[in-house]
Amino acid sequence: MSEPATPLLEIKDLHTRFHTLDGTVNAVDGVDFDVYQGETLGLVGESGCGKSVTALSILQLLRCPPAEIQGRILFEGNNLLDLDREGIRKIRGNEISMIFQEPMTSLNPVLRIGEQIAEAAKIHKRMTRQEAWRWAVEMLRMVQIPGPGSRSKQYPHKFSGGMRQRAMIAMALSCNPRLILADEPSTALDVTIQAQIMSLMQKLKEEFNSAIVLITHDLGIIAEMVSRVVVMYAGKVVEEAPVKELFKDPRHPYTQGLLGSIPVIGRKEQTGRRLQEIPGIVPSPMETPLGCRFHPRCHKVMNRCQEQEPPMIHLAEHRRVSCLLEA
Ligand code: SF4
Repeated sequence: MSEPATPLLEIKDLHTRFHTLDGTVNAVDGVDFDVYQGETLGLVGESGCGKSVTALSILQLLRCPPAEIQGRILFEGNNLLDLDREGIRKIRGNEISMIFQEPMTSLNPVLRIGEQIAEAAKIHKRMTRQEAWRWAVEMLRMVQIPGPGSRSKQYPHKFSGGMRQRAMIAMALSCNPRLILADEPSTALDVTIQAQIMSLMQKLKEEFNSAIVLITHDLGIIAEMVSRVVVMYAGKVVEEAPVKELFKDPRHPYTQGLLGSIPVIGRKEQTGRRLQEIPGIVPSPMETPLGCRFHPRCHKVMNRCQEQEPPMIHLAEHRRVSCLLEA
């Protein structure tokens, strides 16, 4: 896919901190990346590396505890961090929408599914109640819910996990957003349902020409769904690459570790070979190691990695890595 020159979303030097009684949590620490109209960008890394906080910072959905967000989040050239509450409310669910891992946390259990989808259309598309309800039924049909007319009158607890996720997608797409932030949208589902949800998202993305930021730790989904990948570790971007290049030639030891830990059926060189693991865990955002944050877990660590923070090295367009081996 050829990308237009101007990004739809530009994240520049994003910092998100939480001030807690135990100290300051630097959850996102200087993140940069772009998203282009119509593309699917993958944001990967282990739990706790700052992927979800990055997405929630874009829509300023971090209230508990209150977050301090700094940097620039340019959406169609306008800095979302300059908007007041009303300004960001107009963007949320309309221009940019979010799909969460567990739909029950975002669906209201005491409102019928149809009402919840219709609500966004009423507010943002200025539809009447009847128009919005018809639109909600149409959206349920689009996400392939059987019997959408009768299903629209049901409450979320009557839906299976897969159907709830489809309803969430219908809600997220109900205002034809330019950008969808999908945070582990299929992780809580069975593998077969996961595949259906992913192919549905891909199909609808193409129909609506939306862009998707797909947050996941599942590299199988990344390989299937995205054109470009941003790898995060301990609140920072450590590598970015077009998906094929990332799988063929991962440059950061962390990316190498992530890829080495997944089985590839049929790959000759994997026959009889043990899967690799990355030792240790992601450090707490309150106690990030000095130097390279990955050094306590890195199999290529050098003496200087413990003192020197690696700079971001730009290797080509959309190809960068933050590792002293490349510096
Ligand atoms: Fe490993 Fe050093 Fe590169 Fe960090 S800078 S990833 S510790 S080699």
